[in-house]
Amino acid sequence: MRAAIASGAKQPWQVHTLADPEPGFNQVLVRVRASGICHNDLRQSSGEFGGHFPKTLGHEPAGEIVAVGPGVHHRKVGDRVGVMLWQGACGRCEWCQRGKPIFCAESVGTSMHMPGSHAELMIALADATVLLPDGLSYEQAAPIFCAGYTAYSGLRSAEPRPGDIIAVVGIGGLGHLAIQYAKAAGFRTIALCRNPDKDSLIRKLGADEIVRDGNGLAAAGGADIVLGTSVSTEAQIEAMQGLRPEGRLVVMGFERKPLPLPVGAMIARRLRVIGSQHNEREHLYEALALSAQGKVTAFTETYRLDDIDTARERLEQGKVRFRAVVVM
Ligand SMILES: [Zn+2]
Ligand SMILES: [Zn+2]
Repeated sequence: MRAAIASGAKQPWQVHTLADPEPGFNQVLVRVRASGICHNDLRQSSGEFGGHFPKTLGHEPAGEIVAVGPGVHHRKVGDRVGVMLWQGACGRCEWCQRGKPIFCAESVGTSMHMPGSHAELMIALADATVLLPDGLSYEQAAPIFCAGYTAYSGLRSAEPRPGDIIAVVGIGGLGHLAIQYAKAAGFRTIALCRNPDKDSLIRKLGADEIVRDGNGLAAAGGADIVLGTSVSTEAQIEAMQGLRPEGRLVVMGFERKPLPLPVGAMIARRLRVIGSQHNEREHLYEALALSAQGKVTAFTETYRLDDIDTARERLEQGKVRFRAVVVM
C-alpha cells in the first residue's frame, strides 16, 4: 500500500510504498477512500505533541472494511465505516468503568498509538469503527470524524435552550460546520470573522449575520453561546464580550498560551467557559445523520494522495476553504 509519511518535525509529508498491514485480534483493515486533514495534523507534524517519527498522520478516515481479524463479529468485509480518533482504552480504570474512556490515561488514539489514515489502508480496532449512514459519501463522511464531531459535540455540550442565539468564532474546518449545525437545529446564528474575504462563503453556510469581533457581537444583541472553533485562543476570549448573561463559551481550538479570562464580566454576567472535544459517541452519530440528510455539507478541497503535501502547505498558510480531504 501507499501511505503519506511525516519523517520528522517540520518535514514535508512524502508518499512511500509499505507492506500491506494485516488485522490482528479485534482489529479490522480499512481501505481508506477519503481522509480529512485536521489542523492537529500540522501540530503533530511540527512535533508539538511529541511522539515518534516517522509516522502516518490523519484521523478523519472513511472507507470500506476489506478484512477482519480474529474475534471480530460485529463488522464484516464490505461495511462502510469511519474510525473514531479515540479508538480504545485500558478498560479497567475509574473512567473506563464510568463509561468515559476518553479520560483514560491509556487511551489509544489514531495517528498516535495506531496508524493514521493518510494511507490507502489502515488498521483500526473494530469497536472504534462507526457504520456510515446509507447515501453519505466518503468525502462528506471523513471530515465529520474530527471537525464535525468536535463542532457538533461543542454545540450539544453547551446545552442550548430554545431561542438561544449561537455565535461561531473561527470560520474554518470546524467553524463552517458549526454554523450549519446551529442553523440545522433552528437557532439564530452569528459568524464572528475578521476576514471579510470569507463573507460570501459564510452567507452560503446560512449564517444570519456576520460580525468582526466581540464588540460587534455585543452591538448585534449578543449571543447565549459562543462556539470557539478558532485556533486563536485570544479570538475566542475576545468574543466573550458579546456573551449575554448566563452565556457559555465552548473552547475547542487552542494554542499554548495562557487565557486572559474576563473574570469581572464572568462573575457579573455568570458566564461559563466549557472545554470540549469528542464528548459523547452519540454526538458523532447525530452529526453523521445530519450530513446524510443533506442538512449539513462539508465544503471540501480534494487532493490525491500524491498531492498531500500541497494540501499540508495550503492548510499551514490558512488558505483551505474549508476542509482539505485526500480522496483515494
Ligand atoms: Zn482533528
Ligand atoms: Zn482506562
